[in-house]
Amino acid sequence: MHRQVQVNDMMPTYIDVYEFGSGSPKIAITGGIHGNEVSGIHICKKLVEYFEENPPLKGSVVVLPICNPIAFRQMERANSFDRKDMNRSFPGSAQGSYTERLAHAVMELTKDADMIIDLHNCGQNSQSYTLAVYSEYPKTRKLADLLNIPALVHSGGASGQLFIEACKRGQAALIIEMPNGPGPGAINRQSTKQGWDGVMNALRHEGFVSGDCIQNEVHAFGPIKHVTAAENGLWKPAIKSGDWAKAGETTGTLNGNPILAPADCYALTARPKSYIACGEFVVAYLVKAE
Ligand SMILES: [Zn+2]
Repeated sequence: MHRQVQVNDMMPTYIDVYEFGSGSPKIAITGGIHGNEVSGIHICKKLVEYFEENPPLKGSVVVLPICNPIAFRQMERANSFDRKDMNRSFPGSAQGSYTERLAHAVMELTKDADMIIDLHNCGQNSQSYTLAVYSEYPKTRKLADLLNIPALVHSGGASGQLFIEACKRGQAALIIEMPNGPGPGAINRQSTKQGWDGVMNALRHEGFVSGDCIQNEVHAFGPIKHVTAAENGLWKPAIKSGDWAKAGETTGTLNGNPILAPADCYALTARPKSYIACGEFVVAYLVKAE
């Protein structure tokens, strides 16, 4: 079922809501909280097509493809009305600023879901990862394991994010971050497929969708850390995003001087060969939490 929910009265804005099936369990999948993060929007639109043909075998599936429609139209992270980061605006307020009203509406539309998967894009040189407060909220760890995305990153838990506020109200909620495409509105096909496969695997496991669930290894990591440049210059990577590095291994060189891995780690992002400024990161890395 498709309906449109009006969010604001002075600048009327409508959020498309697609709901398939009824009752519990219920899963909500959200895209476009950041308007220029199109992989999640694309996955949501494919989910709508899928469930229009194949209604859920049990429970209900709610899909919100574009939670921040004006930001999407402007192909910006935030909309131009108040320029607030929507994913710092949850739980929002019905009487708040434009973005706070959007956040409030999304919070309401997802309130009776058992699980929420919120889809986002990260930088195009990164690997995909799942972001969750998995140690404090064990249900999110179970959900993350179903996504088959190798890197599960521990979130700092900053409030105002949909998945954090949803966890606080007892839901299993997390983010999938996928590298974006090479320009505004561009889709990275590989990472979008990875996100789609992960969501579908979770849907299969929970019985919404037919087929066998597969289980690949998911590594639980601490928060994202960065190796930064100590001077301006030319960075040449020796590793690539998705590589594992041993402590002391060369990750690349800056002006010909090696920069070593500070720990046994997974390179979430290895910056490509670039001229960079002092203080910029050259490698974003993850250290195993267990
Ligand atoms: Zn985002």
